[in-house]
Amino acid sequence: MSLESGSGAPGETADDRRIRDVIVLGSGPAGFSAALYAARADRAPLVLTGQELGGQAGLTHTIENYPGFPEGVGGAELGQLFQKQAERFGAMVELDSATAVELGQWPFHVKTYSAEYTARTLIIATGASPRKLGVPGEQELTGRGVSYCATCDGWFFKGKEVVVVGGGDSALEEGLFLTRYASHVTVVHRREELRAGRILRQRAERNEKISFRLSTVVQAIRGETAVASIVLRHVVSGAIEEKPTQGVFIFIGHDPNTEFLRGQVDLDAKGYVVADARMRTSVPGVFVAGEAADSAFRQVATSVGMGVAAAMTAETWLAEREAELAEAGA
Ligand code: NAP
Repeated sequence: MSLESGSGAPGETADDRRIRDVIVLGSGPAGFSAALYAARADRAPLVLTGQELGGQAGLTHTIENYPGFPEGVGGAELGQLFQKQAERFGAMVELDSATAVELGQWPFHVKTYSAEYTARTLIIATGASPRKLGVPGEQELTGRGVSYCATCDGWFFKGKEVVVVGGGDSALEEGLFLTRYASHVTVVHRREELRAGRILRQRAERNEKISFRLSTVVQAIRGETAVASIVLRHVVSGAIEEKPTQGVFIFIGHDPNTEFLRGQVDLDAKGYVVADARMRTSVPGVFVAGEAADSAFRQVATSVGMGVAAAMTAETWLAEREAELAEAGA
């Protein structure tokens, strides 16, 4: 295969479009930042968006800690800005998800729901998904009162009582957001101390609409066609209570969206892609950015930085490979 740039130029055929110098998997802050840098290196990257255009950040109501937006910025709005900027320099965006990859040969193969692609470099930016509690009723009542996204579903709970599960920043931030709609928010956390940072903790503790049930776990979520109650157990006393509620919002962390990569690239025990400081994975030519490789920071700003780094390393790798092949007369 020749290595002329797989650009999105006029006159390009559908087959050309399927052979890319750079394919980015994911459209969150990491994915679009990688695409922006790859586009500016004139690689006309293809972004396969995944299920959630804009990633998790796109579902966040307001992002207050992304530098450059002193008044905060809507998550969806920021995602659109990222996309627009990457497209301006030649990134192509397909609303499709990678379902399988073959990284055992080069160039790499990427299978999606509707097509197959060939990539000379791959940047994995598939992010992470909300973790499930795994209690009876959770799965059956998802979308019927059980939710993992306050921004998406909060409005449906106007004037109703809801429960938020989790004690981290997400639980408190989303719980605070829910007080706009809900008449009351009960935060259920499995330990006595909240994990969330001081500012959010103080804001939540001072909010009259929020109360806490600490050292408490969820045993089941009940309801016929919609959530009607939640069964709670105090971990010290063992006391069990069935508390009426119409909404259960679960924010107990995330798991990386990397299952489809298993056996193709090294993952750690929790499923995160193993990478070095330059975002190189165990497979030369495959790079990673954002929450697929990051269980520690999980910020828009850090994901953006990782996306930029991954694209810069990918560009160096590709240029070296092209030089090698040119020298070998390939
Ligand atoms: P997190 O910090 O990992 O917190 C998860 C929470 O869920 C913890 O309180 C944990 O309990 C609880 N939990 C985990 N598994 C559970 C289970 N099976 N049953 C019951 N409870 C369970 O996750 P996060 O809140 O999504 O935050 C992730 C990262 O994003 C963090 O670094 C956070 O700082 C960052 N973040 C920042 C902001 C912000 O700066 N505004 C907003 C959102 C998120 P334990 O405490 O007992 O482990």
